[in-house]
Amino acid sequence: MKRGRVFSGARPTGRQHLGNYLGAIQNYVALQEDYECVYCVVDLHALTTLTETEKLKGNTYEMVLDWLAAGMDPETSIIFVQSHVPQVTELHIILSMVTPMGWLTRLPTFKEKVRLQPDNVNYGLLGYPVLMAADITLYKADTVPVGEDQAPHLEFTREIVRRFNHHFGPTLIEPQIKLTHYPRVMGLDRVNKMSKSLNNHIELAFSPEVIEQRVMTMVTDPQRRYRSDPGRPEVCNVFAFHGFFSAQQVEDIESQCRSAEIGCVDCKRSLARNLAASLAPFRQRRAELARDENLVWDVLSDGANRATPIAQETLEEVKIKIGLP
Ligand code: ATP
Ligand code: MG
Repeated sequence: MKRGRVFSGARPTGRQHLGNYLGAIQNYVALQEDYECVYCVVDLHALTTLTETEKLKGNTYEMVLDWLAAGMDPETSIIFVQSHVPQVTELHIILSMVTPMGWLTRLPTFKEKVRLQPDNVNYGLLGYPVLMAADITLYKADTVPVGEDQAPHLEFTREIVRRFNHHFGPTLIEPQIKLTHYPRVMGLDRVNKMSKSLNNHIELAFSPEVIEQRVMTMVTDPQRRYRSDPGRPEVCNVFAFHGFFSAQQVEDIESQCRSAEIGCVDCKRSLARNLAASLAPFRQRRAELARDENLVWDVLSDGANRATPIAQETLEEVKIKIGLP
C-alpha cells in the first residue's frame, strides 16, 4: 500500500543539470518506493518564456532520457507530457476564478521574470502559478518534491486549495512541499541559482571535458585574490559541491583551503575529476537507453494513458461541486 501521491514537473527547456538533480530528481527517485508518483514534462509552462518553440520536442526527449537514466522508473511512476492530458487546462480556468489578481502580481517569482524578460510579460506568465496549482490538484497529490525556488508557488497552491474548498466544500488536497538537503544549488556565477535559462549550469550529461571547462569558470571566494590568501570554504560554491561529490576528501579540502595549501585552480580540478567520476554511471546508462529511439515516446504515451483517468475523475468531481450544468 502506497503512502500517498506525489506530483512534480519540470519545464522542457533543456537537459537536466546539477541543480535539478540535487534539488528535485533525487527526491523523485527516492519517493517512488513509498508513493504513487506522477512526473510531468510541463510543456505548457515552457511556453511562458520560450520563443523558440520548435525546440520543445527535442528538449522533452532529452529531459525524459535524463530522468530515466537518473533512476525514474516508468513501470511504477507515471511519466507524461502536460499537454497530452488537456483536462489540466480546464481546471486551470476554473481555479483562475478563485484566484485574486493581487496574489499573482505580488509573487516574487513573477516580479523576477518581469525583470528578466521585460519585453515578454504575457498573460500566461502571470497565470503560471494557477496552472501549477491545477497540475498538482488535478492528480490530488499530497506531496510535491521541488527545489526551494518553487516554494512560493507551492504555498500559492495551498492557498488556492483552501479557497476552493471553502467555497465549494472539501474537494482538492492541500499539498506539502518536499525539499532535499540541497534545495537551492547555486550556479557557476555563485550569485544566482543554477538555471538552464541563465546558462550558469552543469548538465548531468556533460562529458568530462566540458565538466572541467565549466568547473574552471566557477566563481570562488571573492576575497581570495592571490594563491597565498587563505580561503573561506563556507562562502565558496566549489566547496559546496565538494560536499556532495568528494565526500571522502572534504575535510582535507577544507583545511587545505583555509591554510592556502591548495589554490582555487587545484581545488576546481579535483572537483571536476570527482564530478565526472560520479556522473560516469549516469552517462553510461543514458547512452544505453538512447539506443532505443522509441523508448522515451513509448514511456510518455503510456504515462498519458495512465494519467488521464485520474485527471478525468478529479475534473468531473470539481465540475459537480461548483455546479456546472
Ligand atoms: P528554467 O531556467 O528554464 O526555469 P530551471 O533550471 O529552473 O529551468 P526547472 O525545469 O524550472 O529548471 O525546474 C525543475 C525542478 O528543479 C524544480 O523542482 C526546481 O525547483 C528544481 N530546481 C531548478 N533549479 C534548481 C536549483 N538551482 N537548486 C535546486 N533545485 C532546482
Ligand atoms: Mg525554473
